[in-house]
Amino acid sequence: MLAKDHIATLIEAGKATRLGPNWPGKRCLAKTRRATLCQKPAIRGRGWCQLHGGRSTGPRTAEGRARVIVAAHTKHGRRSKAYIEKGKAIRKELKQIILECQRAGLLPDK
Ligand SMILES: [Zn+2]
Repeated sequence: MLAKDHIATLIEAGKATRLGPNWPGKRCLAKTRRATLCQKPAIRGRGWCQLHGGRSTGPRTAEGRARVIVAAHTKHGRRSKAYIEKGKAIRKELKQIILECQRAGLLPDK
């Protein structure tokens, strides 16, 4: 069991980090539906809490969106248009080579 003065010391130590009315940190600037200020602590570097727009809302620039859509949603790229077109071109070229070899007599006809 803790001594009473030790408990008082712990309570005093916790006051600096507690989010009560005298908390010294920055609070959210958003207005609630009751027209009062939101009392949650603001996200560091921003004026709002995570409920009122403090966190990221996604990429804004075209470059950022492309990065998210292409890079984050691509697993291996074997179903991508470029990969499929490359395979088609290789097979077409191979077919042409086989046909030319058959015409020249280097390969037996079917
Ligand atoms: Zn808030």
